Amino acid sequence: MATTEEMHAHLAAIPNLAVSVDVPLAGYTRFGVGGPADLYAETSSEEAFLEALDAARAGGIAPMVIGGGTNLIVSDLGYRGLVLRYRGDDLRAEGKRVTVGAGAELQRLVDFCIDHGLQGLETLAGIPGWTGAAIYGNAGAYGHSISECVTQVRFFDGERVRALANDECRFTYRESIFKQHKEWIIFAAALTLEPADRGALRTIADGIVQVRNEKFPVTMRCAGSIFKNLLLRELPAGAAAMVPADAVREGKVPAAWFLEQVGAKGMQLGDIHVASYHANLLYNGGRGTAAELRSLIQELKARVRARFGLDLEEEVQYIG
Ligand SMILES: Cc1cc2nc3c(=O)[nH]c(=O)nc-3n(C[C@H](O)[C@H](O)[C@H](O)COP(=O)(O)OP(=O)(O)OC[C@H]3O[C@@H](n4cnc5c(N)ncnc54)[C@H](O)[C@@H]3O)c2cc1C
Repeated sequence: MATTEEMHAHLAAIPNLAVSVDVPLAGYTRFGVGGPADLYAETSSEEAFLEALDAARAGGIAPMVIGGGTNLIVSDLGYRGLVLRYRGDDLRAEGKRVTVGAGAELQRLVDFCIDHGLQGLETLAGIPGWTGAAIYGNAGAYGHSISECVTQVRFFDGERVRALANDECRFTYRESIFKQHKEWIIFAAALTLEPADRGALRTIADGIVQVRNEKFPVTMRCAGSIFKNLLLRELPAGAAAMVPADAVREGKVPAAWFLEQVGAKGMQLGDIHVASYHANLLYNGGRGTAAELRSLIQELKARVRARFGLDLEEEVQYIG
């Protein structure tokens, strides 16, 4: 296995790749927790990204791709390997078809579609992060997900760059084939949207952003919802029987409902808190650690398991 110094020298020789060593990942995550990555590199060039992956593979170094870091919990010990970010963010529209680089901020894509009078992504306004990760986790809000507009995804499968059509991406609620193949890297996507009135779309998006900013203040160190909501039809019978009908929305029971029943609201461990107004929202008060965050998540899962006999599943992704 190559040493960090050897790998740094190798990566530094790749054109258009910015490389650093011993980079604190807390600065790359919205939670603001996490120790250093041995190596960190980013680029807007697909070619440079692939060369970096090749170099990592040849040197026996584990690569890990991140985007905007809004859905990550990085260990306090950091990451022993190479953290990579792909920043290619080209955006183009041709009629109803839009192509976007994985490194484009999702909000930029949403605004771009609205400005072009294209309907389909306006309810995703205000979801932080980049487009690649939005596809990876099939991000969505207000009953809609990005998968409804995606027609094709271009990605690297470890051997070659290829494309999958929507029905091959296995999109379901906050899931995709990319989550099942964590080594795959999304580079770009094509989307198809329907023409609509630009002003009306803007009004919808602005209203949503206003509500979101109240729930998730822009400076809050958090990941949005920690746990996925649950499909009523997939709950164990005993748990389903305990859920009142008015807690169910579009066939789903919010994870927050279960968390509220076990007293999650306002819980605290170190400087990690559960919001007093939202049981599925954990945030870092400023001095919290990843260890505290993980422990509090485990405590919440244990309480829900003991009371309802079901396992909450994290939406947030762990590194290290
Ligand atoms: C305040 C707040 C509100 C939120 N609200 C919502 C919401 O309403 N709906 C929702 O769905 N989410 C929500 N989220 C979660 C988060 O914004 C989304 O999951 C977002 O898509 C993550 O994007 P990111 O670029 O920050 O990804 P990161 O956090 O950097 O990474 C997330 C995962 O994606 C993988 N990944 C990143 N880039 C790529 C790539 N190019 N190819 C393959 N894998 C990749 C990473 O390996 C990691 O596993 C919210 C988060 C916050 C902080």
